[in-house]
Amino acid sequence: MDANMLEIQEQVLLAGLTTFDVGGPARYFVQIASEADAVAAVAFACERGLDYLVLGGGSNVLISDAGFPGLVILNRIKGVTVEEAGGTVQVTAGGGEDWQDFVDLCVARGWQGVECLAGVPGTVGASPIQNIGAYGQEVSQVIARVRCLETATGKIVAFDNEECGFRYRESIFNTCKAGNYLVLSVTFTLISGGTPVITYRELEDRLSGILSPTLADVRDAVVAIRAGKGVLVRTGHESFKSAGSFFKNPIVSRNRFEHIEAILAANGGPTSWAWPLPDGDVKVSAAFLIQSAGFNRGYCAGKVGISPYHTLILVNSDGGTAQELVDFAAVVRQRVMDRFGVVLQPEARLIGFGSSPFNGCKVPFIAETAVTQKQEVV
Ligand SMILES: Cc1cc2nc3c(=O)[nH]c(=O)nc-3n(C[C@H](O)[C@H](O)[C@H](O)COP(=O)(O)OP(=O)(O)OC[C@H]3O[C@@H](n4cnc5c(N)ncnc54)[C@H](O)[C@@H]3O)c2cc1C
Repeated sequence: MDANMLEIQEQVLLAGLTTFDVGGPARYFVQIASEADAVAAVAFACERGLDYLVLGGGSNVLISDAGFPGLVILNRIKGVTVEEAGGTVQVTAGGGEDWQDFVDLCVARGWQGVECLAGVPGTVGASPIQNIGAYGQEVSQVIARVRCLETATGKIVAFDNEECGFRYRESIFNTCKAGNYLVLSVTFTLISGGTPVITYRELEDRLSGILSPTLADVRDAVVAIRAGKGVLVRTGHESFKSAGSFFKNPIVSRNRFEHIEAILAANGGPTSWAWPLPDGDVKVSAAFLIQSAGFNRGYCAGKVGISPYHTLILVNSDGGTAQELVDFAAVVRQRVMDRFGVVLQPEARLIGFGSSPFNGCKVPFIAETAVTQKQEVV
């Protein structure tokens, strides 16, 4: 397809396309519905020397009030194909398919593997980017292949699971190869007629009254839990303008963990705020650090603040701006760093803020392209 066949718009406001409901205009904007559209859209950007940004459901981005000066490509490539082989199915879904619809389809067909990821907003194409995870499942557990457009060459390439570099909220697509690929489709290996595997305590408790929970029971329980926390972005449910968890849970050395523990010892606190990792490091609850640094649920900072249900969720509560959100995030980071010596890194992708979005804040911002393991100041 020729770029001339695409409907390229100019100065399209992005706020309404994001769950934070903030963000200025895209200089150029195009919605794509096929792989050919994707190739043509990227060619349009390359020919004009424009940066481009792929947008799915806009549920993991914070776009600046100035907007995006290049081409925004809204991915709406649809379609689901299935190959059955023995007890497993290989399901390939277009990158622009709605993730929640995809989970519903899998549950309805009895394909086990994604039911705990019900209610995560966004698109299938974004699911491998930060290796979405919730309630004991990570999408990397079932991804077989990610088919992409390599934007520098215009070639279609595919990555097997091991090549995607999946880790906690990370893949090559948001670290070392960030911005190099547009995800066209994702192939999942799911278990046909499989029974749910429930490993998450809260989910287990919720399902305790059901003898043999089905995939639908699990999906419904997850959706109900999410609805109760205001993190179900669906008509008819209370939700907040947010990008979900704003910061990642930091991984710190054992020394740093013991340092934090000592600071907190006097105050008690919940028992499950840290999880030891096999290499000796410790994953720490960012929510707990934020709360212990003085920001409680429902904390207000003008028109932005913290969700009344979860400390890790920054919210645009009253028509705030992207700048207000990023300024508030900077204050939270600084306070956590001053108190515990831990640098929180955003889970949401910050767009259009330059290389130091947390202006005036002493805490370094590690660019998304850097592979971040330990997030602490030594
Ligand atoms: C209320 C709420 C709850 C959430 N709960 C969870 C949760 O439980 N677990 C979890 O892991 N996440 C959660 N999230 C975060 C978010 O839903 C996921 O990260 C989701 O995968 C983002 O999908 P999206 O299509 O909206 O991506 P977008 O926000 O549109 O994009 C996110 C990033 O991915 C890139 N991208 C998107 N599509 C493509 C593509 N096709 N090719 C290349 N790059 C692409 C974008 O450029 C951007 O960098 C939550 C968010 C909200 C608002």
